[in-house]
Amino acid sequence: MELEQQFKLTRPGDFGVMGDPIQHSRSPIMQNAALKFWWESQKDTRDGSAPKYHSFHVKKEELRTAFELAKKFQLKGLNITIPHKQAAVDIVNRIDEFSQETQSVNTVLFQDFEVKGYNTDGFGFEMALKNDLLFDPMGKTAFVLGAGSTGKIILKQLALLGIKTIFLWNRTSDRSALIVKELKKNLEILLVEGKEDIQRALSSSDLVVNATSVGLRENDPWPLADLNFSSNQDYFDVIYHRETAFIRDAKKSGAKTASGLGMLLYQGARSFEIWTQSPAPLKIMKKALMESL
Ligand code: NAP
Repeated sequence: MELEQQFKLTRPGDFGVMGDPIQHSRSPIMQNAALKFWWESQKDTRDGSAPKYHSFHVKKEELRTAFELAKKFQLKGLNITIPHKQAAVDIVNRIDEFSQETQSVNTVLFQDFEVKGYNTDGFGFEMALKNDLLFDPMGKTAFVLGAGSTGKIILKQLALLGIKTIFLWNRTSDRSALIVKELKKNLEILLVEGKEDIQRALSSSDLVVNATSVGLRENDPWPLADLNFSSNQDYFDVIYHRETAFIRDAKKSGAKTASGLGMLLYQGARSFEIWTQSPAPLKIMKKALMESL
């Protein structure tokens, strides 16, 4: 659907997520359930029906126009997803410290004529590690695949949680080299290239994280096939809407695994709290997510 047409379906005070691709996103299901619950629990003080959370298919070149449309149609808040999180940093008027440091915005609040940017992905990742894998990064070693926007957030969050060493692999090595330059003050990050190096890093890690977008599309080829996974390690994949080859291989080895569903839940809960200033109804959000799978 044409961009403006998508925004014409909204009402003032609504919410939404902007990305490309967007049809896989489970955020509308989760956030609409949360908004309905929140609205009904305050019915005495409110008129009309609950605000809605929409999904907007926004191409790279349309991002600025999409922000203008969100303002014009008086949306209250947005989530920003692949591939717009970095570009959104230059569009919002104000950003929080974590977004500044990671150059990534995933949550936007329209308030008092300002467009405020936040990042809740790091919090989502931390909570998912804790709740889904019972993993505490303090003093441990992790192997992170992917140095895109999510990879950077995961590195930053692991550093904040006291990880000792990180091995980092990225398809484009220039990109990972750049991240090392930025983050190495607080952290030992070792770049990994080539199959032998990768296998060595894999064998020395307590936690292995796929932070690439491989698996987003059905039949995406797993770039690091034929590696030996071990049952002593924990595996985390940021992809949440299907079981990826990465998680399948890890499960075969008997290891503990988690998909990105928990990360999605907790980042979404934090976004909800930023928009509504009310506690997120976690159980309702989780139930809606699980039912959508
Ligand atoms: P991004 O900035 O575009 O980065 C994509 C990453 O994937 C880069 O490291 C890229 O490597 C790598 N990649 C892409 N295709 C590849 C291939 N065929 N082989 C090897 N590596 C490949 O994207 P992003 O914003 O970080 O998002 C990454 C994924 O995280 C998305 O699927 C997104 O949905 C997911 N995500 C999930 C959650 C959650 O809550 N679960 C939260 C945030 C993001 P190059 O640098 O070489 O291109």
